Parts: sequence; C-alpha cells; structure tokens
Amino acid sequence: MNFKSLIRDVPNFPKEGVIFKDITLLLQNPSALKQTANALFHLLEGRKIDKVVGMESRGFIFGPILAEKLNAGFVPVRKPGKLPSTTISETYDLEYGTDTLEIHIDGIKKGDRVLIHDDVLATGGTASAACKLIEKLGGVIVQCNFLLELTFLEGNSKISTYPVKSLIKY
Ligand code: IMP
Repeated sequence: MNFKSLIRDVPNFPKEGVIFKDITLLLQNPSALKQTANALFHLLEGRKIDKVVGMESRGFIFGPILAEKLNAGFVPVRKPGKLPSTTISETYDLEYGTDTLEIHIDGIKKGDRVLIHDDVLATGGTASAACKLIEKLGGVIVQCNFLLELTFLEGNSKISTYPVKSLIKY
C-alpha cells in the first residue's frame, strides 16, 4: 500500500510556516488502517513487549491497537494536569519555550519491556522526554516506533541510544 498517498500536507497548521502532516485520510480508510497497524506491529520483529507507551494525543490511536496485538498493556503519556493519579514529569525544550509530559508512577514497573509509540517523529523532543520518563520508572526501552518520521529535523539523534523505526520517512 502507498501510505504516503493518504498523508496530506496542511500548510500553516497549527501555525504560520509549519507544513503539518495530516494522517486522518489514512485513519478513515479501513484497509489503510488495518495495514498500518499490521506494519507497525511487524516493526517489532517478534520482540516481547510488556507495555506500549503512547504520547498524547495521536500516540493514542495506534498505541492501544499495537498493545492489543502484542499482548501488552497501554500506558498514556500526557500533557500536565491530565492524568488523575500520582505522576512524574519531564520538561523539555521547544524552539521557543518548554513543554512538559507526565506519566502515572504505577504505569511502568521496574524491568518492564517498553515500546514507545507516536504518530510523528519530528524534532525528537517528545520521544526523548517519554524515554526519560520510562527510565526514571525502571522500564527498559525495546524500541521507539513511529508512523512517520520527518528525517530533515533529525529527531532520531535525540533518541539514538534506542532502536528507532519508522514506517514512512520524509
Ligand atoms: P517532536 O517533539 O518535535 O518530535 O514532535 C512530535 C510530536 O508533535 C508528536 O507527538 C506529533 O504528534 C506532533 N507533530 C509534530 N509534527 C507533526 C506533523 O506534521 N503532523 C502530526 N503531528 C506532528
């Protein structure tokens, strides 16, 4: 399947000068949805995973589908103030300012084998912060996988100590 044909460029979203990769056409196509989920699953090449960690919000789309296929649990990483129980947080730098991500402290047990999943790897700030959260809780990162990677932003370099796989590269 030509996944790229179902990914739409939206100029100036969410702000002027940004070309946003929109995956909603792919999601609404039943065959593409199934094939994408299967292809993301196969990136694991049979490795055992205890928890899939998905980042708010589009990591919540394929994250739970992958968890179900892997017989793993799903753990959300969210923006501050969204998770109801006790959390730890990680703050990371953006082009202008900072952002923070949180995870429940009981989301990952020491030694859990973790897959980090998000829709897009851009600058790598989000994924790198998520990896730090997992390691603070004693989790072991088996792979970071993404539906698509914007290689020109070199996000890969921020998580280069982990195995990184992307289905589609731009
Ligand atoms: P990063 O932290 O710069 O790597 O950005 C990755 C995060 O921003 C992910 O959670 C993505 O969902 C989101 N993101 C960045 N660029 C895009 C895009 O072009 N399309 C969809 N999501 C994006």
